[in-house]
Amino acid sequence: MKNYIHHHEWKIIEKGFNPELNKNSESVFSIGNGRFGQRANFEEDYSGESMQGSYVAGVYYPDKTRVGWWKNGYPEYFAKVINSANWIGIKVAVDGDNVDLHHCKVSRFQRVLNMKEGYLERSFQATLESGKKIGIKSTRFCSMADDELGAIKYEVKALNFSGEITFTPYVDFDVVNEDANYDEKFWNEVDKKVSNGLAWITAQTKDNDFGVETFQVTTGMQLALTKNGEAVSFKARKRKKEKFVSNQFSVDLAEGEKTTLYKYATIVSSLNYNKESLTAACEAALERAKDSGFTKMLKEHKAIWKQKWANSDVEIKGDVSAQQGIRFNIFQLNQTYTGEDVRLNIGPKGFTGEKYGGVTYWDTEAYCLPFYLSTSPQKVAKQLLVYRYEHLQKAIENAAKLGFVKGAALYPMVTINGEECHNEWEITFEEIHRNGAIAFAIYDYIRYTNDHNYLAEKGLEVLIAIARFWSQRVNWSIKKEEYVMLGVTGPNEFENNVNNNFYTSYLAVWCLKYTMECIEYVKTNQAEAFGKLAKRIKFKEAVEVERWKDISTKMHYPYDNELDIYLQQDNFLDKEQILVKDLPKKDLPIVQNWSWDRILRSVFIKQADTLQTFYFFEEDFDMDAHRRHYDFYEPRTVHESSLSPCVHSILAAKLGYEKRAYQFYLQTSRLDLDDYNNDTEDGCHITSMAGSWMSIVKGFAGMRIENDCLTFKPFVPKQWKGYAFKIRFRDSLINVDISKRKTNITLESGHPLTVIVNGKDCEVK
Ligand code: BGC
Repeated sequence: MKNYIHHHEWKIIEKGFNPELNKNSESVFSIGNGRFGQRANFEEDYSGESMQGSYVAGVYYPDKTRVGWWKNGYPEYFAKVINSANWIGIKVAVDGDNVDLHHCKVSRFQRVLNMKEGYLERSFQATLESGKKIGIKSTRFCSMADDELGAIKYEVKALNFSGEITFTPYVDFDVVNEDANYDEKFWNEVDKKVSNGLAWITAQTKDNDFGVETFQVTTGMQLALTKNGEAVSFKARKRKKEKFVSNQFSVDLAEGEKTTLYKYATIVSSLNYNKESLTAACEAALERAKDSGFTKMLKEHKAIWKQKWANSDVEIKGDVSAQQGIRFNIFQLNQTYTGEDVRLNIGPKGFTGEKYGGVTYWDTEAYCLPFYLSTSPQKVAKQLLVYRYEHLQKAIENAAKLGFVKGAALYPMVTINGEECHNEWEITFEEIHRNGAIAFAIYDYIRYTNDHNYLAEKGLEVLIAIARFWSQRVNWSIKKEEYVMLGVTGPNEFENNVNNNFYTSYLAVWCLKYTMECIEYVKTNQAEAFGKLAKRIKFKEAVEVERWKDISTKMHYPYDNELDIYLQQDNFLDKEQILVKDLPKKDLPIVQNWSWDRILRSVFIKQADTLQTFYFFEEDFDMDAHRRHYDFYEPRTVHESSLSPCVHSILAAKLGYEKRAYQFYLQTSRLDLDDYNNDTEDGCHITSMAGSWMSIVKGFAGMRIENDCLTFKPFVPKQWKGYAFKIRFRDSLINVDISKRKTNITLESGHPLTVIVNGKDCEVK
């Protein structure tokens, strides 16, 4: 765990230059706008430890699957969002000496991420070998108001000398991914242009053998220069080389004088334009930036952030560190996904690193959806559902590859375009619970928004395809006289190929029941639409539904009568029953210290598994059952997935284990700021950030939806004076303010509504 980030309510602050933590900070201080994102790399050259990262959402390369032992059903490729052009680069030289913080004496270094207004600032003084000292301050953002634009204001001051500052701002497509095999490069140049103060490059992703579309991206820059606040013209030396364009020009400064370079950048891609019109789109966007200028662009960008915070802020009173933690999580979630484009989704690392390849996991439905449902306009969460609807045919093909028939769908474990991209059999073929999370998201969305029309529009088609999968995935056990689900991996990836994982089986039955309920709803309310759908998907209602009913009533759930609990899987109690507290500290995390073989046979649980059932379907179990299961499973859980603490925090809060609930909350909300798992340099844990938000809203405040109504059962953690948050529910935006004495709920905008606090009706006007 690291502890170098200064606590502040609205800012993330690093003081002093920490080269050994640079990759860490590059992740934490990342910025984005839903369309593209940028790690906090330096503008000027830096030859120390760094991971360059500039990502364009939805722009990926299908890399060939390489595995030791090929299994039929494996995907041919795994898609990953690739590192895209460096648009921030500005080489700086002082009388010919290059500025590189790895070789300068650095003082007064400070990096500040202003979360309230969405920009990154970095300032420092650097003394070069010549003894010349400059002060530099850079301010940059990825515009939320115009998502094709980024901007940098780069100020240089001559502190102890008079001399020449030479700038070489550039765009560089000659980039690699850290995780690329053999330093392979994924971009080929298509075209480029350099003129005075303007340059761009168009590059295309390498051809592939899988018939996957290639992408083109045009990245451009537009430059402006001032000296002591006055615009100055420059005549740039224009440079072009393979995948690289730059301008070079110099400014003479007397001691104490300052020059500012404005670098506006555009990123446009063939996701949004015909390849032929990309360069025109790039130049038009650069023109827009030039016309607006930095100050106006930043003002418009700040206005969007103001709106975002007005809908999604959580205020914590009396604990700055917790306050910073939750705002950091909310900031990252808002800059990762905006819901503007249905083809995009939320990668577990967002725009902050390469790990997980920027692709979509069940994290979106199971963890992220509730955040966007409650803090953004309804359209945003709906887009996440439609994303899966658009991938339905691929999910049906994916199931067909594994031998499923008649329109059964298995959604991929990881995907970007609907195609399965995961290639470990015990997960690709067996971690099928993800299918249930996609169905659960439809339920969650409808209960939250009341948008029942979504069922006839798209949802029911997805549900039926998922139900068809489950109905074929189970088999009848003659011995047990029950249906069984063999060869699965639950959310706990620390045991594979188990039989009758309780969570998966319970979820499967829930999917069948919910689908049947939705069929009835659509048949009654939109009979014509139902008829059309049934015909189109060849739905044999009588036969199919009969089987679903049979499975629903005769599913096998492993249960131990003595302990009075459901078992994670048939043989869970055969494992040696030891607890995490009895493990030597040096063994943790077990994933880093034990062999995989030892992990698989152990009782230790990576993340909520049986308890995920209690989280999703809490109303099916009474409080005693909750307690028995939590008390049994939590002490065996090592929480080695960032998704784990939040579910446990919510359950602990429900059970009145307030101290534990708070500990779990801390573990998730400052996970990256304090680098709890020693892995923040790979990128931040974006999807689990939604879990931090849930720990407060669903955990501490106990927010639920019951019978079309928001309900709360709040408590205030001992360490806090109180907390407040915004919730968008249907047509209303409310502010929930919870102190130790009372809960005050007020209407910010929209329709008055009734909410229930500790069992009592409250009119919110
Ligand atoms: C977790 C999965 C999760 C994935 C991406 C894994 O470590 O076990 O549940 O989907 O990370 O966040």
